[in-house]
Amino acid sequence: MLRLHNTMTRSVDEFRPLVPGQVGLYTCGLTVYNYAHIGNLRTYIFEDVLKRVLMLSGYKVRHVMNITDVGHLTSDADVGEDKMEVGAAREGKSAWEIAEFFQRAFVRDLHRLNILEPDTWCRATDHITEQIELVRRLEEKGFTYAIKGDGVYFDTARLPDYGKLVRLDAEGLRAGARIEMVAGKRNPTDFALWKFSPRGSKRQMEWPSPWGVGFPGWHVECSAMAVKHLGERMDIHCGGVDHQAVHHTNEIAQTESAYGHPWVNWWIHGEWLVLPKEGGEAAKMSKSAENFLTLDLLIKKGYEPLAFRYFCLNAHYRQQLAFTWQALDAAANAYSHQRRTVQDLRPGHRPGDKPIEQHMAVFRAAAEDDLNMPQALAAMWAVAKDERAQGGEVYATLLEMDRVLGLGIEQMEEGELAISRAEIQKLIDDRAAARQAGRFAHADQIRQQLAAMGIILEDSPSGTTWRRA
Ligand code: AMP
Ligand code: ZN
Repeated sequence: MLRLHNTMTRSVDEFRPLVPGQVGLYTCGLTVYNYAHIGNLRTYIFEDVLKRVLMLSGYKVRHVMNITDVGHLTSDADVGEDKMEVGAAREGKSAWEIAEFFQRAFVRDLHRLNILEPDTWCRATDHITEQIELVRRLEEKGFTYAIKGDGVYFDTARLPDYGKLVRLDAEGLRAGARIEMVAGKRNPTDFALWKFSPRGSKRQMEWPSPWGVGFPGWHVECSAMAVKHLGERMDIHCGGVDHQAVHHTNEIAQTESAYGHPWVNWWIHGEWLVLPKEGGEAAKMSKSAENFLTLDLLIKKGYEPLAFRYFCLNAHYRQQLAFTWQALDAAANAYSHQRRTVQDLRPGHRPGDKPIEQHMAVFRAAAEDDLNMPQALAAMWAVAKDERAQGGEVYATLLEMDRVLGLGIEQMEEGELAISRAEIQKLIDDRAAARQAGRFAHADQIRQQLAAMGIILEDSPSGTTWRRA
């Protein structure tokens, strides 16, 4: 029996889909004005595990993920700049080019982490008509009002259960009042459905609408696209916990008001990846705070992407995970150990070998208990170390478990590195210094020295990375 935590009910409940055997899953995608940071990627790994557990439990999953390429403002209070235009100004490119570039980078990161791609990708800018249609519906039902020169807003006072996802109370509303508020908003929690382009200036991304030239509010995109691709009711909607109070709360308000019935059965949220601060509280990794690390950086430092996946699996998705290099090292070591085990077992594996049911039962129970991956990993190690079991069957069991873990057991080929990551990085730095000083022969010698150890260097404008040969 699959049990999952539902933010709406605040409890771990038995999962029941709308249609037996099928699951509609919507996951909020990246705002593509920069690279995904490893905090974002933690959330996509958790959602991937959810999808894989649903599949292991026998469900046919229809997964939709959006790409936010317009309308996500730098402040949740409907003020500030569009993040896409901020990214465009930063890179000296158009907002369209930025969106294209970072969407590609995002998909590449997902592949490197063995995250299964959604069945449907949908971009906000490809769904402007659907978003206008949703706002029109809300307007017809009397849920909207316009603020001159600013935009069309949703009147949250019209909805008695506004904020039910996070049980927004009077205190919460008062706290809301302290935040920066757009002049003309009727209630602090009201939110933009359509923003007008600023008078006298032209945005790179803008469209005509019945209310004036402008662009859709961020929350509208997810409601419009989720309904288009998964229907008026759906099983599961996911994101990080930072989406609960504003983004998902507003998605619920506008969708349920537009369609007149409950919308999503299960809201599932992943906790943050945080960076511990010396002498202070750990801080959420975030692009706006500029305290973020990317997967590229981890790779550059010599970590395998799947070692980061292993690192994430080691914590329950509803608990904050503190990122430190020591903790990542520990995960990388465990991952290497797993590789050695797999390589030892593989020669004994025969095509007919079956997974060992006793071990699978323990694994499945952990996975189906609200995605308890730390326990699932423990079950994986238990079978790997089971000396009484036949090696080929142990290998078959690991392969079966990997349908959920996604650690790439079948592809694990490489042996141990002949040199530590720190030493590789030092040689890369020495080579860069040699090249800068014009000592090219020495630089080449370092490249060859690493090649002899099975380490291939790759140069790019952003620096040198390495991979196994
Ligand atoms: P965004 O691009 O800001 O829309 O974020 C993409 C996804 O990453 C959302 O599901 C966020 O909730 C999630 N997210 C953002 N920051 C973190 C973090 N530090 N840890 C985990 N998830 C995060
Ligand atoms: Zn969303």
